[in-house]
Amino acid sequence: MRIVIAGAGAMGSRFGVMLHHAGNDVVLIDKWREHVEAIKKNGLSANINGQRSTTRMPIFYPDEIASNSTPADLIIVFTKAMQLEDMLQSIKPLLGSETMVLCLLNGLGHEDTLARYVPKKNIVLGITMWTAGLEGPGKVKLFGTGEVELQNIDAEGEKLAKKIVAELRNAGLNGVYSSNVKYSVWRKACVNGTLNSTCTILNANISELGATTEAIPILKAIISEFAAVAAKEHVILDQKEILQHVVETFDPNGIGLHYPSMHQDLIKNNRLTEIDYINGAVARKGAAYGVPTPYCALLTELIHAKEQILKAK
Ligand code: NAD
Repeated sequence: MRIVIAGAGAMGSRFGVMLHHAGNDVVLIDKWREHVEAIKKNGLSANINGQRSTTRMPIFYPDEIASNSTPADLIIVFTKAMQLEDMLQSIKPLLGSETMVLCLLNGLGHEDTLARYVPKKNIVLGITMWTAGLEGPGKVKLFGTGEVELQNIDAEGEKLAKKIVAELRNAGLNGVYSSNVKYSVWRKACVNGTLNSTCTILNANISELGATTEAIPILKAIISEFAAVAAKEHVILDQKEILQHVVETFDPNGIGLHYPSMHQDLIKNNRLTEIDYINGAVARKGAAYGVPTPYCALLTELIHAKEQILKAK
C-alpha cells in the first residue's frame, strides 16, 4: 500500500516505522526542519522497547509536494489537533478520489475538519492506545504495546476501513474494527478531559491529583458535562464506568506516576495544547446545544491563560 504519514512526529514515526517494516511504501511529511533534515541525512532512529534501529524512509516538507503527485492509497494524519486543518491544506495534491484518510488524533470534532477536504466515504476515524515520544530531531522512543480501534464514518467506507484494519494487523499495530467508534472517541476525550487539564493546571502527576479530597467531585462534574453534551450527539456515555477507569489510573505505584500528555506539552516542552479539542470542544458544543459546561469552560480558559504566561508555541 502507498501510505503517507502526514505529521511524522512521535506517533507518525511509530506508525511509519511499523508500516514500512511490514512492506508498505511509506512516505513521511513534516515541517519541523531539524527533524526532517536529520531523517533525510541519517534515517529515522527509533528506540523500540530498548533496541535501537534506523529506518530509511522518504520524508518531504509540505511545500515539496508537487501539484501533480500520485495520490496515496492511505493517508494517516498525525498532527496535533490544532494543526490538522493546515496539514489537510498542504496535502491536497495527495488526496485522490479513492484515498482513505485515517485520523487517530485525540479530541473531538475532527470528522468535521476532515469532511471539508475528504469525501465522507473515505474518512476513517479511530483512537489508539499506542504511545510514542520524541527524543530529539530524527529520534523517537517507542515503548510498550497498543491497539488501534477504527471505523468508517460513512456506511460506504466499510470495506476499505476493514482493509486498513488488515494492514495495521499485518504491521503489528493491532487494528480492530469498531462497531461504535463515536462512543470510543467521546470516551477517550472524556478521560483526557478529566486528567490532562487538571494535572497541567495543578502541575501534578495523576496520583498526586487523585490523592486530593477535591479530585472525585471535580472529575464527576467534568464527566457529567461531557455526558450531557455527548447525549446531544446521540452518544450515551457510561459515566460510572468512565469514573472508575479514571480512578484506576490514580495508582501511585504504576500509571499514577505519569504526567498526562498536556502537562508534558505545556509545562515540560512549552508547547500549545489540544485543550480546544477536549474540554474546549465540550464547552463550545455545550454553548451551541444550550447545555451548561462551567467546568470545561473554566478549564479551557485556565489552560489558555497558562499557555500565555509560559509563552507557549
Ligand atoms: P507530535 O507533535 O510529536 O507530532 C506532530 C507532528 O506534526 C510534528 O512533527 C509537526 O512538525 C508536524 N506538523 C504539524 N503541522 C504540520 C503541518 N502543517 N505540516 C507538516 N507537518 C506538520 O505529536 P504526537 O505526540 O505524535 O501526537 C499526534 C496526535 O496523536 C495528537 O492528537 C495526540 O494527542 C495523539 N496521540 C499521541 C500519543 C503519544 O503517545 N504521543 C498517544 C495517543 C494519541
